[in-house]
Amino acid sequence: MTALDVLAPTDRSAAARESARADRSGWSVGDPPDAVVRPTTVAEVQAVVRWAADHQVPLVPRGAGTGLTGGASATAGQVVLDLSALDAIESVDPDARIAVVQPGVIVADLDRAAAAHGLRYAPDPGSVAIASIGGTIATNAGGLRCARHGGTREAVVGLDVVLADGSLLRTGTSGPRSVTGYDLTSLFVGSEGTLGIVVRATVRLQPQPVATATVAALFADVAAAARAVRTVTAAGPVPPTLELLDHATLAAVDPVLAADGGAFLLVQTEGPGALAEATDLAGLLRGTALRVDVTDDPARSERLIETRRGALPAVQRLGRVLIEDVSVPRTALAEALTGIAAISDATGVRVFTFAHAGEGVIHPLVLTDDGEVTPRVQEAVDAVVALALRLGGTLTGEHGIGALKRRWLSDELDPVARTTLHRIKDALDPAGVLNPGKAI
Ligand SMILES: Cc1cc2nc3c(=O)[nH]c(=O)nc-3n(C[C@H](O)[C@H](O)[C@H](O)COP(=O)(O)OP(=O)(O)OC[C@H]3O[C@@H](n4cnc5c(N)ncnc54)[C@H](O)[C@@H]3O)c2cc1C
Repeated sequence: MTALDVLAPTDRSAAARESARADRSGWSVGDPPDAVVRPTTVAEVQAVVRWAADHQVPLVPRGAGTGLTGGASATAGQVVLDLSALDAIESVDPDARIAVVQPGVIVADLDRAAAAHGLRYAPDPGSVAIASIGGTIATNAGGLRCARHGGTREAVVGLDVVLADGSLLRTGTSGPRSVTGYDLTSLFVGSEGTLGIVVRATVRLQPQPVATATVAALFADVAAAARAVRTVTAAGPVPPTLELLDHATLAAVDPVLAADGGAFLLVQTEGPGALAEATDLAGLLRGTALRVDVTDDPARSERLIETRRGALPAVQRLGRVLIEDVSVPRTALAEALTGIAAISDATGVRVFTFAHAGEGVIHPLVLTDDGEVTPRVQEAVDAVVALALRLGGTLTGEHGIGALKRRWLSDELDPVARTTLHRIKDALDPAGVLNPGKAI
């Protein structure tokens, strides 16, 4: 084991091992990992991966540790490969509208670097200020602007990936389009550190919108808000941001607003016609909403977006929650949200729900019993997942499978699909050293 220390900076302190034991889901199992290795160059990553393969030591890649499914959680007998020191923005090319970044770059820092050129990085997870580019690529993170601009996969042009044997794979092309070979870039996006280590990414940037406008609407209940989502999406192109908060979530984030209504919808439009589009949408919503406000003041818009971003931390302050992340077809959103409320009533378990409604991604936060996952809490979670699958949805809209969602994989994927995933894993990581027990 000592040889690892000469390959890259290695921390075996109790504090470092303890902090790498869990991600933001809080999930961990057993004792902390044996060591945290923090390479500063791609060559060091390659050397560490080769060492792990030679010694059959499982490696758990870690970006910023903000994941919500235990994907970066590590335990005894494993070594954590912390990519946070590879944090250079290597280039921003305003003409080609691409940036080349190392995996430890925080998403908001890339966005700020792009802003200096009048550009932006479109993927905008709620964790934009704390999540790393490598982690968001490994989980194919979604976010608040995905309904129109796509998620992380749509923003990634090419990757440098250290494979399980230590070799360096380059995927993608510098041109706008290519169909040479299999789409390896897409294969690694969302692979949760199980197929290779992302050590560099070439990502798309896009022009910042000339204007934005925001509609904030309050409804009597979550069903009315969900129906309003359909009204908005039926009216024309899906707005970049279309976020929904149920009453319990709203009460946790903004008790004053929650006193006046039962659910909150936030719509953001952008481009030269942003205000006119927002005003039109507000007109449509006035038919069923209790209250509708429109603003094109950037500061007020940002405050409203912050209300939405604050949802998860606000609920987490109330106690330990299980963070679910199902997704359903947009047309089934109302049925899903009312079904989740019914599950909460039937089990007596408090569920706080918010949604990237434009994409049908729903986050039901299931409150544990004083931190314990009791049978009734588990029953509520199982029922939420079963509901989403019954409505034609999926186990995870954006957080990934990690360790926590594997138990439902067979409910969604048939044996052929699961076997195919394992064949890909076996082909790329025959010794099973990269993030074992996660994702598939
Ligand atoms: C307040 C809050 C809000 C959030 N909002 C959103 C949201 O809106 N949308 C969303 O999708 N998620 C959201 N998340 C979840 C989380 O931020 C994302 O999953 C994010 O992509 C994780 O990035 P990270 O750098 O923290 O990765 P980590 O948690 O460190 O790792 C995540 C996974 O990626 C792997 N990994 C990390 N880096 C690499 C690498 N370089 N190469 C290979 N594998 C790697 C890890 O092994 C692990 O499997 C939120 C989390 C919080 C706490």
